[in-house]
Amino acid sequence: MKYSTQLLVAMADAIAPRYCSGCRGVLMPVEKHLCTTCSDRLRWRPNGYSPGLPLFDRVRVGLSFDVGPVQSLVHAGKYNGQKELFRYLGQCMAHSMDPLPLDTLLIPVPLTALKMQRRGYNQSHWIAMGLSDIWECPVLERALYRTSQKKSQTSLSKTERRRNTEGVFAHWPLGIPPLSESRIALVDDTLTTGATLQSCALALRLWKPARLEALALAWAE
Ligand SMILES: [Zn+2]
Repeated sequence: MKYSTQLLVAMADAIAPRYCSGCRGVLMPVEKHLCTTCSDRLRWRPNGYSPGLPLFDRVRVGLSFDVGPVQSLVHAGKYNGQKELFRYLGQCMAHSMDPLPLDTLLIPVPLTALKMQRRGYNQSHWIAMGLSDIWECPVLERALYRTSQKKSQTSLSKTERRRNTEGVFAHWPLGIPPLSESRIALVDDTLTTGATLQSCALALRLWKPARLEALALAWAE
């Protein structure tokens, strides 16, 4: 950070202090989102590791959910509106891993319309933007949509029934060049059983991508 910028941040901090998303301590002017202590407690996995999921060529995760302040950070990012924190963590994850080829499409795991309405943003989209800031891979928004069953099926048309079924679906046609030869990396915030990623993979495999990977910020082992 330039000295002049640092001075401005210090002056702003004197008026309205910024707090660490991990421990709620006051941040120093040079610190961003996390204090140095919390940053040091993040154990980034070089090149990530997680159990294989059958539909993916590779799955990588950045952090363990239960180590250091990870749980607090994911919570703050999801429920306290701190979407920029996810972008920052996406940038950190990109620095910790071998990069993906430039032509890889980063596709965020979608939220249901109801969750999107409540939260106002998709955390996986912000992680993908952080990865894109460093790796320069494009983020493909709204390639997938997710539904949850809301009402009785009886009075619904075929299309309405599909929308009313719980699951993940790909938009088709997309109005963009065919994805049959593309490399795709799905981006998620927390990997637990892998069921959501598998549902996304089933939808994306219809496009016959050349390679399908998944990247998750944290793994709840
Ligand atoms: Zn802290």
